[in-house]
Amino acid sequence: MKTLIVEKIDQNRLGELVTVSRLFCEKPDLVALGEGAVPAGFGKAFQADNRIGANLVSPLAELIRQEAYEMILLSASTEGNGVASCLAAILSAPIVSEVTGISNDQVIEKPIYGGKALARYKINKTPSVLTIRRKYFEKAVLDGTMASTPLNISTRPVTLIDEIEQKTEGVPLEDAEFIATGGRGMGSADNFAMLKEMIDLLKGAVGASRGAVDEGWMPPQLQIGQTGKIVAPTVYFAVGVSGASQHLAGISNAKCVVAINKDEEANIFNRARFGIVEDYKKVIPAIIKVLKAEG
Ligand SMILES: Cc1cc2nc3c(=O)[nH]c(=O)nc-3n(C[C@H](O)[C@H](O)[C@H](O)COP(=O)(O)OP(=O)(O)OC[C@H]3O[C@@H](n4cnc5c(N)ncnc54)[C@H](O)[C@@H]3O)c2cc1C
Repeated sequence: MKTLIVEKIDQNRLGELVTVSRLFCEKPDLVALGEGAVPAGFGKAFQADNRIGANLVSPLAELIRQEAYEMILLSASTEGNGVASCLAAILSAPIVSEVTGISNDQVIEKPIYGGKALARYKINKTPSVLTIRRKYFEKAVLDGTMASTPLNISTRPVTLIDEIEQKTEGVPLEDAEFIATGGRGMGSADNFAMLKEMIDLLKGAVGASRGAVDEGWMPPQLQIGQTGKIVAPTVYFAVGVSGASQHLAGISNAKCVVAINKDEEANIFNRARFGIVEDYKKVIPAIIKVLKAEG
């Protein structure tokens, strides 16, 4: 199948998408978003400004038609899912978003009902569009760089007026191996400083439940769950989080969940490998002390 990857210039994301592409073709083509050198390993490479936003959709659709791509792969990020659904509509193409598995005979798998069940799909029409969840596929190693052609963008129906940077310190949640998420049980925005101190010692990232975001304690871009970020850390600390199904939908691929909650009946304990029934204000300082002692 002639395959096109559309992704930012980012070794990790591109590496995972290349692994997926190998289930469909020998060498995919690439639309690389962003400035800088394009990693090698693709048939043809096109390049476009990462901040092109909605202006990307029409030129991409045109390229897909011209080159007769049969499979289009993007990351299941907010931007990736947005562009993918517009492409699918323009091209009348089938789309499966948030893909977490693909078998050798190209059966595609994704979680549904907030992660309570898996759906399997066989695609019978081309072109098809898939968005792939981060960290579910191995990263192919992309050595060296290759030449690229600018993507032909003839019209720009949307004008970029301004950019306001939303600053998030440290490791992005999607890449973090350690995450400490605070819920409504944290009690205040100030109390998140304790989580930050702990997770900084592990070089990880702080997240939030919707409860904490709704309280205005943490910004929406740090929300984890069905309507927030999907994360896949090695260790996930859920602190003062009840464990609603919509929250659990965002952590289905977390390897080890450590729950700290005062209520022994809290649903988060059903997902946790380690559970501590206690006030987090007693537990987090103790963990910080141990981490500091161990350097
Ligand atoms: C369509 C839809 C989409 C949604 N999407 C999301 C989503 O993406 N992400 C998300 O998180 N939610 C989402 N929700 C909301 C979800 O249903 C829950 O309401 C939310 O997750 C609850 O947040 P919480 O666990 O922080 O708060 P609560 O449910 O209020 O739980 C707080 C917990 O803290 C514990 N606690 C209190 N004090 C302490 C203490 N001192 N020490 C230890 N523990 C303590 C309590 O025992 C309790 O279990 C969504 C809901 C809907 C309807």
